[in-house]
Amino acid sequence: MDAGPEQIAEAVRRLSAGGVVAFPTETVYGLGADALNPDAVAHVFRLKGRPANNPLIVHVSGPAMAREVVAQWTPDADRLADAFWPGPLTIVLPKADRVPDIVTAGGPTVAVRCPDHPLTLALLEVFNGPLVGPSANPSGFVSPTTADHVRAVFSQSRAFQGSDRSPSSSEDQASRDPKPGVYILDGGPCRVGIESTVLSLADNPARVLRPGMVSAEEIARVLGRPVVEAPPSPASDAAPRASPGLMRSHYAPRKRVVLAPPELTGIDLQRPMTVIATRPMHAAPTYRLIAMPDDPADYARGLYAALRDADEHGPGDLIVVETPWEGDEPPARWRAVADRLHRAAGPRD
Ligand code: AMP
Ligand code: MG
Repeated sequence: MDAGPEQIAEAVRRLSAGGVVAFPTETVYGLGADALNPDAVAHVFRLKGRPANNPLIVHVSGPAMAREVVAQWTPDADRLADAFWPGPLTIVLPKADRVPDIVTAGGPTVAVRCPDHPLTLALLEVFNGPLVGPSANPSGFVSPTTADHVRAVFSQSRAFQGSDRSPSSSEDQASRDPKPGVYILDGGPCRVGIESTVLSLADNPARVLRPGMVSAEEIARVLGRPVVEAPPSPASDAAPRASPGLMRSHYAPRKRVVLAPPELTGIDLQRPMTVIATRPMHAAPTYRLIAMPDDPADYARGLYAALRDADEHGPGDLIVVETPWEGDEPPARWRAVADRLHRAAGPRD
């Protein structure tokens, strides 16, 4: 059941006391904390097991709040906010001094976004300040797209054991929160389902650091000039990256993920495994099939739930994902999904 004003008030109380609150957005669920409180932000890094060199996105209620965390809000930023906010576009600009270094991983820029979810917009309004909000999952794993995913990950992951200070209490039942210290606002399933497009306006020309459902083409149209795109998958984790979060392995379930061409050429179909595919290929498959929609937006919405399903309930230790696009290179409309699939299948350390 979706949270209401009472849950928002409780969430604000916790945030004001330096606590952590999981909140819904249209992309994925975020792990929220007061962006101007370095201790609260440090708690988020600990909970996620997130490397200190991976900066956090600061969530704002709109351009007015964004102005408080950037050094200078530019006409380009205004145009983009007009066109895409609230929505899945994150804008990187030089940071304001008041933003703690831990938020930006010591860097000179800050990433800001206004999420398109009524509950979290209300939370930001009532809290009346910016909130960090990385995906509410252990670093590197599949992002949560329902409140149940947040609860399941938090209660299952040993990475979270002992990181929280506040004691568990039965009064907390209303939040159905399995881990003390993290209050979960349930806003239903996420509409977009994959993380926001990250665009750097601190680069010239402007640069897409992470593809998302707002495309480089749409951004270029609004800016009236070309936008550079980072390659869909970096060649090596050791190579310098434009955005510190662009690890080769990310968004990854526990089981091995293999990308396969249509018709699953080269895959031993007798192995116990799950196949995630847009085209039903065999009348009586030997494997478990998770059928996906062939529209990119619908596919993105269901992707992380499908990976979780395969991880938790599929046979064997292998997940084969049939590439939903034709040909070697994903066309523009599949680029964000392709990025997540390449990283889910990326080499692990
Ligand atoms: P997540 O919150 O897990 O969805 O990841 C946030 C993404 O935004 C990561 O890819 C970060 O590297 C990127 N990001 C956050 N802040 C900055 C920044 N100041 N400059 C460049 N990329 C950033
Ligand atoms: Mg994440």
